[in-house]
Amino acid sequence: MASIFTKIINGEIPCYKVAEDDQFIAFLDINPNAMGHTLCVPKTEVNKIFDLDEAVYMDLMEFSRKVAKALEKTVPCKRIGMSVIGLEVPHVHVHLIPLNEMKEMTFQHKISLDHDQMESLASKIQRNL
Ligand code: AMP
Repeated sequence: MASIFTKIINGEIPCYKVAEDDQFIAFLDINPNAMGHTLCVPKTEVNKIFDLDEAVYMDLMEFSRKVAKALEKTVPCKRIGMSVIGLEVPHVHVHLIPLNEMKEMTFQHKISLDHDQMESLASKIQRNL
């Protein structure tokens, strides 16, 4: 069965898109740890990051770097944290999280943004790419 991220990539489920190219998509995490929490996802569905082809892995890092730079320009923060987990969604994704405090990397601390805030944030990040 297709992962929820494949459904997003295929346009079957909406997302707050931040960036896209032929290999990858980035969109806001629906249950963010912090303002601007973004996921960078390869369009080809692979479960575990270290099972990616080496070239795709390197390209994912480069794509994530570009998105992180745009995030850093958009959201006031001390730095962008990066994490890979995948225990909930078995489709490779890099979490990029604008950080001000350590708790924002714990995945225990969540914030709530409404639809308009998510939409406007995604547009602002896009403009800073
Ligand atoms: P993990 O697989 O543990 O790295 O976590 C999956 C992440 O995907 C969580 O932070 C979820 O909030 C996020 N997530 C799950 N479904 C969606 C969705 N439809 N749109 C955006 N983010 C999602």
